[in-house]
Amino acid sequence: MHILVLNSGSSSIKFQLRDDAVLLCKGLIERIGEPRGAIRISASNGNKIDKEMQLPDHTVALQHLLEVLVSPDLGALHSLSDIDAVGHRVVHGGEDYSDSVLVDEDVIQSIERLSSLAPLHNPPNLKGILACREIMPGVPQVAVFDTAFHATMPPVAYMYPLPRELYLKYKIRRYGFHGTSHRYVHGRAAILSGFAGKPSKIITAHLGNGCSITAIKDGKAIDTSMGFTPLEGLVMGTRSGDIDASLPCFLHDQGIQPKDFRNIFQKKSGLLGLSGGLSNDMRVLLEKYDTHPDARLAVDVFCYRLKKYIGSYSAALGGLDVLVFTGGIGENADAVRALTCVGLEFLGVQIDSQRNQEGSRREALISTDAGRVKVFVIPTDEERVIAQETQRLTENRGARKKSFNNQSLINHRERH
Ligand code: ADP
Repeated sequence: MHILVLNSGSSSIKFQLRDDAVLLCKGLIERIGEPRGAIRISASNGNKIDKEMQLPDHTVALQHLLEVLVSPDLGALHSLSDIDAVGHRVVHGGEDYSDSVLVDEDVIQSIERLSSLAPLHNPPNLKGILACREIMPGVPQVAVFDTAFHATMPPVAYMYPLPRELYLKYKIRRYGFHGTSHRYVHGRAAILSGFAGKPSKIITAHLGNGCSITAIKDGKAIDTSMGFTPLEGLVMGTRSGDIDASLPCFLHDQGIQPKDFRNIFQKKSGLLGLSGGLSNDMRVLLEKYDTHPDARLAVDVFCYRLKKYIGSYSAALGGLDVLVFTGGIGENADAVRALTCVGLEFLGVQIDSQRNQEGSRREALISTDAGRVKVFVIPTDEERVIAQETQRLTENRGARKKSFNNQSLINHRERH
């Protein structure tokens, strides 16, 4: 099956075209709604297309993408009628969705309603869905939610100790995010460690620009560090993670306005804030680790807090069998993995320093053979999960009448 995977942001769309497990091409549409937009796409056959053009909205951007996908210069797709389904990353499924879902009118309305819980993410995700519905009518679409993998969390993990009416009235509770990534690397780790289908206690740490950690018992998420929003939990590139909830009130008393809180806690904190504005990029901070005290502090706080979460999640799981590192930092930064794991020997975590140094950017076991806990680096692949989910929910629908083809796109363009 040919599946188009879309991750629609407010001014960008990341995309992949896959044929079952095979990646045909991938790329990025940038600067939608700005004066000069761009489409960058590279096919697995080595062809690349890099075009600048005006992209006033998501519908026009998708239209250009489809034209590029069937262009002979790319050679990725013969006809648009070969696209069997579209899979969308949708950030927030709230309490409504514990699984991926085939998109229909009700689902569209639910995603719109859930925008109050994820105002920065769900509206652009929805724009991608609506653009596909307009340009590719009849092509089935599937929504894969970032929150869904965490739907198995029990109330003891997802309830905040706040007045109960806040949950009843506003659905204020912990939801968790990055679920598609945690699900993928957990699945790979279970296979690699021999725990697939068996009782297991696995912790997955997704460390990218956003960072989260999940405790998974017997294949089910039982706790995760992001909460009502993706701000809670670990130190991130520019997000604070856990802080004292009274800080906004204190800052307000000092004359800082609520409209500035988002900027402070989401954009100026985390590694960037700790390093005194030096960088939110772990590569830069690691390069300066020995020479710049603020860079060192930022990395140390990052690893210290991560270590504490591993300890507390081991307690929640009642032990630990497997620990996984993924995301840009988790996959690449052996120093972060080493600093985090040192001191966890009491849990059975023993890093083999040579395996750790050589174990970046690919699936690798980085623990010693004597260590009781298997520690893995596993590159994440959220798009693969979205494609698999899309296939699962659409392949048994019977033969679709392929009314959408190259001519449909020309007709749509002429009508608008
Ligand atoms: P996103 O969360 O936006 O998907 P990524 O998962 O790609 O981001 O992670 C981005 C982060 O990964 C960067 O901020 C950078 O700090 C880190 N990173 C990437 N490569 C390396 C590296 N070689 N060493 C250390 N950190 C790295």
